Amino acid sequence: MSEHLPPLREVIKSHELQAKKAFGQNFLLDLNLTGKIARVAGDISDSVIYEVGPGPGGLTRGLLSNGAKRVVAVEMDQRCIPALNQVSEAFENRLAVHQGDAMKSDELELLNLAPNETARIASNLPYNVGTALFVKWLTLEKWQPWYASLTLMFQQEVAERIVAKPNTKAYGRLSVLAQWRGNVRIAMRVPAAAFTPPPKVSSAIIHFEPTEPLDANVQLNELEKVVERAFGQRRKMLRASLKGLGVNAHTLLENANIDPTSRAEDLTVKQFVELALHYQKMRA
Ligand code: SAM
Repeated sequence: MSEHLPPLREVIKSHELQAKKAFGQNFLLDLNLTGKIARVAGDISDSVIYEVGPGPGGLTRGLLSNGAKRVVAVEMDQRCIPALNQVSEAFENRLAVHQGDAMKSDELELLNLAPNETARIASNLPYNVGTALFVKWLTLEKWQPWYASLTLMFQQEVAERIVAKPNTKAYGRLSVLAQWRGNVRIAMRVPAAAFTPPPKVSSAIIHFEPTEPLDANVQLNELEKVVERAFGQRRKMLRASLKGLGVNAHTLLENANIDPTSRAEDLTVKQFVELALHYQKMRA
């Protein structure tokens, strides 16, 4: 039974899980807090949760206690595996743990979903690969994706970039990509003191739900090219920053009905989609 599990501080002591920087380890040891984070994921009773980096298992316990049907976790640090196996035993084997690198994992193969199961991702992400994993899950070719939601911890500054609106400093590639593919919000802020050891900056949980694309004809790689160019030189006017795209930047902007003197951060996500569509047309 889950109540037989020792407090997380004891788990860390007995399994010698002192945090290592190289693994991006900042642990959450307060089970009230991890329960709260798990609840951000919503009703998870029919869901299989894919968790990256369970560490000593704080969030994992939160997810299982909140009724997740199963949790499939990928943890890079070998030292955590015995502690996680104990969590699995305490929760009637609803937890499956895989040792490995989430950047290289095939999530669907690990999840092995039954037809009636919904997949969701929940993770207190390691800071060193957090953004790369988020981009991996946002840029899947097949959309709708295999997951129903993402509930992810980021450094607050990254979370703010993800939800940023046009005409703000934080608005950029991550905002456009995330808001192109779904609805996203900051669900919770988490102070540095909640972690062991505390990181230098505060963190925040974002909750993302995929939606139908704004325009089904737009190709991901073309949108990415346009967005990357535009924000690569964000202070420049678009007629200059889009020059390297291999088409006449002025004509492209005119076709998309966008003022050539505007800058990347002036454009809405919808306008970026327009740009990408016309870019595709001009290159066809
Ligand atoms: N979920 C735990 C918690 O909330 O206390 C730990 C979170 S800690 C910020 C990040 C975890 O991700 C660590 O346990 C670390 O070992 C693991 N990790 C780091 N890089 C990873 C990778 N590429 N693949 C899988 N796990 C990774």
